[in-house]
Formats: sequence, C-alpha cells, structure tokens
Amino acid sequence: SLKGKIALVTGSTSGIGLGIARQLAAQGTDLMLNGFGDAAYINDLCASLAEEFKVRVAHNGADMSKPAEIEAMVAAAEAEFGRVDILVNNAGIQHVSPVESFPVERWDAVIAINLSAVFHGTRAALPGMKARGWGRIINIASVHGLIASVNKSAYVAAKHGVIGLTKVTALENAEGGITCNAICPGWVLTPLVQKQIDALAANKGLSIEDAGRELLSEKQPSKSFVTPEQLGELAVFLCSDAASNMRGTALTMDGGWTAQ
Ligand code: NAD
Repeated sequence: SLKGKIALVTGSTSGIGLGIARQLAAQGTDLMLNGFGDAAYINDLCASLAEEFKVRVAHNGADMSKPAEIEAMVAAAEAEFGRVDILVNNAGIQHVSPVESFPVERWDAVIAINLSAVFHGTRAALPGMKARGWGRIINIASVHGLIASVNKSAYVAAKHGVIGLTKVTALENAEGGITCNAICPGWVLTPLVQKQIDALAANKGLSIEDAGRELLSEKQPSKSFVTPEQLGELAVFLCSDAASNMRGTALTMDGGWTAQ
C-alpha cells in the first residue's frame, strides 16, 4: 500500500495521467492533480476521486510550458500536503508534420511541455525527496523515446530526451531510496490519439472505427489499445519496494510495437 504517500501527476485531468492518478489513489496516495479543464469539471473530478478512494485530492493549474509555474506547483503541493513522494511527469502534446513544414512555435511547445517540463519538475521535487530519503520519479515517455515514426520530429526528439534525462536522474540518485524510470506506452486511446484517428479517417475516407483499426494494425501487433489503467498498474509497481532496484530503465507497454 502507498497509504500516506503524496503523488503529483502532471497532465492528470485526462487520459494516461488520470489513469495513473486513479491507480495510485487506489493504493492510498493523496493526489495533486495538474492539467487543463474548466473549473466545474476539475472540481467534480477532485471531489469524485476523493470520494471514491478516500484520499485527499487537490489540483494545480500550472502550465507545463512555464518553468516558474512548474516550480510553484511543486511548492504548492509541498505546502498543501507537506511533501511530494511520487512525481509522475506525464503532461504531453503531439504535433504531426514533416520537418520542413513543422511550425517553429509547435516545435518549441512540444519540447517545452514534453521534455523541459520533466527537468523543471524533477529539479523542484528532488530536494524534498533527498531530505526524506525516498522518492519515485516516473517519466511518461513513449515508444517514440526508443524508435521513430515519420512526421513526429519534435515528439520523437523530446521523448528520446526524456529517456536520457531519466537515466541521468537515476544515476545521480543511484544510492538511496529515490528511483527514476520511464514508461514507454504504445497506442493508448486518449484525446491525444483520437485526433490522429480523426485525421486518418478524414484523409482516407474511413469510418472512425476503421481508422482506429488501421492505426493499430500499422504499428501495434496486439491490435488492441494499451489502457490508462494498465499503465497505472505499472506505475504502482514502480512505486513498490520490489522495484527499488529498477533504476534508469525504460519500460515498454506497447502491444509488441518495439519487438518488431
Ligand atoms: P491527453 O491529451 O489525454 O492528456 C494530456 C494531459 O496533459 C491533459 O490533462 C492536459 O490538460 C495536460 N496538458 C497538456 N498540455 C499541458 C500544459 N501545457 N500544461 C499542463 N497540462 C497540460 O494525452 P495522453 O495521451 O494521456 O498523454 C499523456 C502522456 O502520455 C503524454 O506525455 C504523451 O506523450 C504520452 N503518451 C501517450 C500515448 C498515447 O497513445 N496516448 C502513447 C505514448 C505516450
């Protein structure tokens, strides 16, 4: 059980981040959520998670493209709950375009949110973890941290960077109770991927269902989506004592994508 631990999960108002937050809360962690959404949605989300799992839940709306806001969010979590034991760097965006037409502003945004925010969050959370001698930093990379696909230059560059940063963070803390690891999901059906399915459907004149099947069959041998719940269970395992010597690794959960 992770009862009494405090988890800060970035980008947890949707998709994978929310799935991870739910599985952590199911083990008893209190939650600092982060991510966009209107005030009513976020209030309901916090109240329903608190009710379902009997844990404390707060939300901080820091924009992960803004270093000062990330630092302030970690400070706010420490002020609200006393500490941050588990940091899940999950917030991320995608933009799909060939290199020569990739909008410069989108490149900067993807690198800021998918890569630099991992550094800023880690930097802010580590001193408290070191003071207490225990911490778990879990970075949500991607299969695209290990291999590439066309038209995803910024995303692939950022995710490869996240895996490098994961290794450095793990090594700098290799003695003691703080571990840092990356999770590399394949396709997960979230709003981030739904946009790519909708684009495929429009381009090829397919139904949404057929476009989803085509997206999977191109890359993911299992032909089924990985779920946020499954990724949450992997995050829970990384927080356990059994995982205390997993350090600096990049764990795939990708339906066989990178086995090919
Ligand atoms: P999603 O769009 O469902 O959720 C993204 C979350 O990040 C939301 O809560 C959103 O509000 C938040 N967010 C976005 N920009 C932000 C910003 N500037 N500041 C604060 N919060 C921000 O996406 P998802 O699919 O759940 O992706 C989560 C992570 O998983 C990302 O890092 C993504 O690259 C990674 N990932 C996703 C897949 C997939 O197939 N969906 C596969 C591999 C890796």
